[in-house]
Amino acid sequence: MLQDSDRIFQNLYGMADRSLAGAKSRGCWDGTAALIQRGHDAIIEEIKESGLRGRGGAGFPTGLKWSFMPKEVKDRPHYLVVNADESEPGTCKDREIMRHDPHTLIEGCLIASFAMRANACYIYIRGEYIREREALQVAIDEAYDAGLLGKNAAGSGWDFDLYLTHGAGAYICGEETALIESLEGKKGMPRLKPPFPAGVGLYGCPSTVNNVESIAVVPTILRRGASWFKSFGRPNNAGTKLFAVSGHVEKPCVVEEAMSITLKELIDKHCGGVRGGWGNLKAVIPGGSSVQCLPKAICDETIMDFDYLREQKSGLGTAAVIVMDQSTDVVKAIWRLAKFYKHESCGQCTPCREGTGWMMRVMDRLVRGDAEIEEIDMLYDVSKQVEGHTICALGDAAAWPIQGLIRHFRDEIEDRIKAKKAGRVSASVAAE
Ligand code: SF4
Repeated sequence: MLQDSDRIFQNLYGMADRSLAGAKSRGCWDGTAALIQRGHDAIIEEIKESGLRGRGGAGFPTGLKWSFMPKEVKDRPHYLVVNADESEPGTCKDREIMRHDPHTLIEGCLIASFAMRANACYIYIRGEYIREREALQVAIDEAYDAGLLGKNAAGSGWDFDLYLTHGAGAYICGEETALIESLEGKKGMPRLKPPFPAGVGLYGCPSTVNNVESIAVVPTILRRGASWFKSFGRPNNAGTKLFAVSGHVEKPCVVEEAMSITLKELIDKHCGGVRGGWGNLKAVIPGGSSVQCLPKAICDETIMDFDYLREQKSGLGTAAVIVMDQSTDVVKAIWRLAKFYKHESCGQCTPCREGTGWMMRVMDRLVRGDAEIEEIDMLYDVSKQVEGHTICALGDAAAWPIQGLIRHFRDEIEDRIKAKKAGRVSASVAAE
């Protein structure tokens, strides 16, 4: 188990003072100017060396992403944009940073912006996170008052402004280009890529969009060194990570742990175990609602990292672990996700706009057992036609949970159809 002294987020549960004074007592803002004076490229190299991969879902190497930004500022300013639009069902880790340990994020914004030669950063926070926004704004104001932001931020010689802005509750604004559109005051619709934001991003300027956790861990990585961070987790899956465990566990929680911890240890040590014991486990969605669920047989062996979960055709995503015990109607659970993605599709591209609705309607009938067995394969085929054929990843996010259901719980769907045909079941009805 991760030692307390190795936890980056020392006030994740809000038990201590979250003000600037409290944050400083935990090591935040300690020698920030010296970290910055290492230079743009040295910081990027250290982050590359640490093996940090983006904590927002895709797991793209953070340092490499930073290195895509131009090496010189020409006629267009550079921007860092922090994605705090945490809307993936089951995901609630960034909110803990913003409301209880906000200075880790603010200091990270300054350092990361400097590394990418940006004098301004925008944090785009989910509209529903009202208290988090208030807490973060208080912390930003404190940092300005203390000279940690603004002209010659933290005495580093770098001028830096940090702005907090909020969305209006659309899931799709968590997609980086939709987020940029929304920041610009337009409808949150994803852009076609290329061009990528590092070339043409916010207001047409070079921009990088990073998740809250990815930025908040940066100061500690620089202070303690890339090799310290890399000492956790398997190769290519470095570091500590916030896991948000919800569902049928005794004590749902958000916890910072080492990457590559086993799923069983995570649940048993931090969440008091599965409700009714490990044997009562039915399935787990390991990375936020948009990845494939895993049945208990796989969960027995599961390691919580990017590579292991990808090999299982699932994903670490945001590391939001949704636990389902034997009482769960897993078909209905996935139907509910299908309904969510259908609702959140921006409608811009046909496979997603039509496909999410089509898949949801078939799921409606599968929940009731009111379908033909052949429709299961048809549903799988349609999900494959949506996956990878859309402008943004929402199409994939809608397809993958359904593919996981069919892959691992096909028997359950078939039994329901057969039972309905035999009149044996008043199958659970998908009603709101
Ligand atoms: Fe919009 Fe869906 Fe296309 Fe993404 S995949 S751009 S959400 S229609």
